[in-house]
Amino acid sequence: MNSTDIQLDIEKVETSRIDQVDFSNLQFGKQYADHMMYCDYIDGEWQTPKIVPYGPMEFEPSAKVFHYGQAVFEGMKAFKDDDGQIWLFRPEQNFERINKSSKRMAIPEFPKEHFFASLQALLKLDQDWVKKGQGNSLYIRPFVIATENGVSASESDRYRFMIIGCPAQAYYNKPIKVIFAQDYSRAADGGVGFAKAAGNYGAQFYPTKLAKEKGLDQIIWTDASSHEYLEEAGTMNIFFRIGDKLLTAPTNDRILDGVTRKSIIQLAKDNDVEVIVDKVSVKYIVEAARKGELKEIFGAGTAATVVRVEGFEYDGEYFDLPAIDKPYGTFFKSSLQDIQYNRVEDPHGWTV
Ligand code: PMP
Repeated sequence: MNSTDIQLDIEKVETSRIDQVDFSNLQFGKQYADHMMYCDYIDGEWQTPKIVPYGPMEFEPSAKVFHYGQAVFEGMKAFKDDDGQIWLFRPEQNFERINKSSKRMAIPEFPKEHFFASLQALLKLDQDWVKKGQGNSLYIRPFVIATENGVSASESDRYRFMIIGCPAQAYYNKPIKVIFAQDYSRAADGGVGFAKAAGNYGAQFYPTKLAKEKGLDQIIWTDASSHEYLEEAGTMNIFFRIGDKLLTAPTNDRILDGVTRKSIIQLAKDNDVEVIVDKVSVKYIVEAARKGELKEIFGAGTAATVVRVEGFEYDGEYFDLPAIDKPYGTFFKSSLQDIQYNRVEDPHGWTV
């Protein structure tokens, strides 16, 4: 079935709120586009998706999501090119990943036709919320929550799939300082680290708060059993540049298979930059930093695209990573953005 064949119930806003928004001064995640989509799973079936004005919803206090965190989400972006056309970047990847996350959390998978028909309708209605220009986008947040009432600790038999969107400018516009995790862990073998499960994020807030109190912005998580290998940051995969080579951890059941990460690996291949996808030992990175061989660290994720790491703390010691000439991070960021904003040919057919 084609996504255009899907029936949607649409209730449009009477008056758009767009005039109340200062697009030159956006705080990420604080303002939402006029419409949202929701679709309920009842009696074993996803119902007709509904598009309604963005606003509060009612849930009973016993809804399972509040007690057991049975919830998953995605993050993707819509970009507007100079001609006013709207583009999504590899949206199939996000669609497949939300279902992968759902499966791990015992949430029923969402139909592809429903997903794309809803996205298309939402973007049509809220097209003015997607602004032209470098760094501007509409951040799209699909998510699923368990809505069955009842505090018994078992999977829900009702769910709500939703999509909301918020206008965004560059998310992290300055370089960040990070700490390599030694005490806390984000994910364990056999756990849910690879899924965008809500609890993965909530569990990071406390250690991240401690890092922020020390003047650091984020944590680079290490493997939970030995803390000897660097894995990923809270919302980004991480690349290390040693000499002219890039190094990044392989994805596994603890690490999110990031769309930006896999796109950068492909762009690196296209540009004859060698990428080693292998375990990244803390010792190796610290030694490379001491010897001056560690040229760059950067994070890669939808929200930030690419963000430079200007230094890291490990074992009480801070290592500075001064800006270099022609950094890979900047190159990959602009290469990606050129594709996302439809400014160059898209050889891999990533934009839709
Ligand atoms: N790791 C984690 C834990 C994340 O939440 C994200 C953001 N989705 C990423 C990596 C980057 O993934 P992507 O490039 O698909 O946004």
